[in-house]
Amino acid sequence: MRFDTVIIGGGLAGMACGIRLAEAGRRCAIVSQGQSAIHFSSGSFDLLGRLPDGQPVSDPVAGIARLAEQCPAHPYAVIGAENCTRLAGQVPALLREAGIRVVGDSRHNHFRITPMGKSKATWLTIEGYLTTDEPDKYPFRRVCIANIEGFLDFYPEFIAEELNRRGVECRFGNFNHPDLEKIRRNPSEMRSANIARVFDHDADLEALAEALRHQAAGCDALILPALIGLTRNDSLEFLRQRVGLPIHLLPTLPPSIPGIRAQQALQHRFRELGGEYFLGDSVLSAEIEHDRVRRIFTANHGNIPFEAEHFVLATGSFFSKGLVATPDRIVEPVFGADTLHTPNRAEWYTLRFFDRQPYQAFGVRTDPSLRVMKQGRPLENLYCAGAGLAGFHPVQEECGAGVSLLSALHVAELVLND
Ligand SMILES: Cc1cc2nc3c(=O)[nH]c(=O)nc-3n(C[C@H](O)[C@H](O)[C@H](O)COP(=O)(O)OP(=O)(O)OC[C@H]3O[C@@H](n4cnc5c(N)ncnc54)[C@H](O)[C@@H]3O)c2cc1C
Repeated sequence: MRFDTVIIGGGLAGMACGIRLAEAGRRCAIVSQGQSAIHFSSGSFDLLGRLPDGQPVSDPVAGIARLAEQCPAHPYAVIGAENCTRLAGQVPALLREAGIRVVGDSRHNHFRITPMGKSKATWLTIEGYLTTDEPDKYPFRRVCIANIEGFLDFYPEFIAEELNRRGVECRFGNFNHPDLEKIRRNPSEMRSANIARVFDHDADLEALAEALRHQAAGCDALILPALIGLTRNDSLEFLRQRVGLPIHLLPTLPPSIPGIRAQQALQHRFRELGGEYFLGDSVLSAEIEHDRVRRIFTANHGNIPFEAEHFVLATGSFFSKGLVATPDRIVEPVFGADTLHTPNRAEWYTLRFFDRQPYQAFGVRTDPSLRVMKQGRPLENLYCAGAGLAGFHPVQEECGAGVSLLSALHVAELVLND
């Protein structure tokens, strides 16, 4: 099989890169072995929430401009502040074209509310989710926080505690539905995706709206766990009209309905543009000649190779097995690429779980054009994008989705200009 570009990994980075290349008319394939981090995400995309020294960032564009001093190996510093600003400006349109409508802009972080009720700075949030411009200011004084009976991945009490501290009066609502009885028999089935399937039909949404209308009577607004809209875009509007109140969604613990929806929408957009998506297939090995990747081999296609002019490594970090830790090394399993890590395993992590963990900045070593290094030399037609890149701390710097999206768009431009 021959393509212009083959992308390995179908997470946020692989799909953004594939979409941009397919939009430019390139024949593109994505090979992806399984679920990606986006299935677990909050429905918000972070660009930069903190500098490496811990200072909070309110203007991500200004923060990115300061990264080169503090951390020259950070992917944003490698891509360049001007490129980052330009590419960040393209992301809302890329998402919108895929049917994912977001609020937010790259000059001003807003705040989203976590499943535990805390405010967290972020860049873009899918429409319908509760966001605020300032951490202490909510668009309501008296709110009803509703939950499904027996759903354990959402914590109304914690959320109410946080809101009460900021002067918001909270009331709890609980709703049920006969179809939920089947999944309730087994507590491990009471997960967001299974519940959301129940509320994908008009009649079931009507019943939900009826229950919510009674429970939220006298409140200014309603907070609902993100358990609607698995396969349709209009569920929230449907409920808002019938309940007659502003309704704000909050993310639940994973699996994440906004994440699953975003994954499906991006995948659909890629295919609509003519891209070929090989889901459930793993790239196992590659043939490299004269510093160029010639072909790759996958589990499902056996000895039928994928050949291309360019390849993109977007296999993610440890979470997606794009990086693997052995007792003494960090390994990139497909190409045996060079990785950046400290040699002494005792220095890979600190014992305090929430501290800045050194291993999180480990990743694939690249040249300044994000070409993957192997045995000290760049592979001329293999680029790396996304969470597998070295040099950043996605959790502490609150930049995970931003690095994946911006590096993917940057790599797409490098491929198009090669
Ligand atoms: C649980 C979790 C939640 C997160 N939530 C957020 C959030 O709410 N907001 C935010 O801004 N950031 C969040 N992040 C940060 C996240 O890293 C980025 O947002 C981004 O989604 C990473 O995308 P990616 O495409 O780079 O990598 P991944 O999403 O890890 O995708 C890599 C893909 O490559 C595939 N793959 C791996 N090896 C192979 C192979 N050999 N062959 C074929 N396919 C392969 C994997 O199956 C996977 O599909 C979260 C991260 C995690 C782990």
